[in-house]
Amino acid sequence: MLVDFHMHSTASDGVMRPLDLREANKAAQIKLMALTDHDTIEGSLELLRQPDPSITVIPGCEFSSTYHNGDVHILGYAFDYTNKELLEYVAFFKESRQTRIFKMTDLCKKNGYDISVDELKAMFPHANSLGRPHLSQLLIAKGYCKTVSEAFNTILHRTSPCYVPKFKAEPSDVIDLIHRANGLAVMAHPVLIRAEEDVHELLELPFDGIEVYHVKQSAADSAKYRKLAIKHKLFITGGSDYHGIPKKEPLAIGDYLIQSDDVAEFLHVLRS
Ligand SMILES: [Zn+2]
Ligand SMILES: [Zn+2]
Repeated sequence: MLVDFHMHSTASDGVMRPLDLREANKAAQIKLMALTDHDTIEGSLELLRQPDPSITVIPGCEFSSTYHNGDVHILGYAFDYTNKELLEYVAFFKESRQTRIFKMTDLCKKNGYDISVDELKAMFPHANSLGRPHLSQLLIAKGYCKTVSEAFNTILHRTSPCYVPKFKAEPSDVIDLIHRANGLAVMAHPVLIRAEEDVHELLELPFDGIEVYHVKQSAADSAKYRKLAIKHKLFITGGSDYHGIPKKEPLAIGDYLIQSDDVAEFLHVLRS
């Protein structure tokens, strides 16, 4: 059986709407999936409210946190999606992300870039959550830079006067939040964590699982993380981290597949 426990929709920074994404999973013969948008469960809720008998969707979310100034993504699965604290947390997160981008837009204006919050909103009328990628697009449209990565490395860089730091969540607080909502906490793509020693330190936290299979992790990486899973008594998960952004792997749902046998213990925990 094919499964995929990591992907993004238009509810965060993906390009496909949740229902279309589920159709793409069905077309790729995936039988069990989780939609793990960044810090929002809106897409997950949409799928859960309209179940489809040919594919099972488990509640999912990819929570942001920070450790030693590096990003640490924590996947939450199978939580109670009516949990009040969890719903309040994602609402707070969205609000703080939004005000941050508006503040950055104002700072750009103060620093001589002729852009405004109204222009940003007008450029992305359907965006669920505006972020630095959107602000980059506006700066590109106005001719201040050529690419998103150029914007991130210059005008919107951490050292720029236009930069506003984001709200920082502690990994341990995120894990506790997931647990209090009766969910499972999984370390996402450890290969993308700032330093190897951070991975080891973070695994002292009460994680339930680790993402051993991920599009950015080589076979050698997976072997290494499988050993860590055994050492820390964690179950193994995997996912494509599909966004649908051109040139960003995987290019399509079904290009990076996970076999249920490779995540058998996770499936067992989900059923119990
Ligand atoms: Zn991530
Ligand atoms: Zn992701």
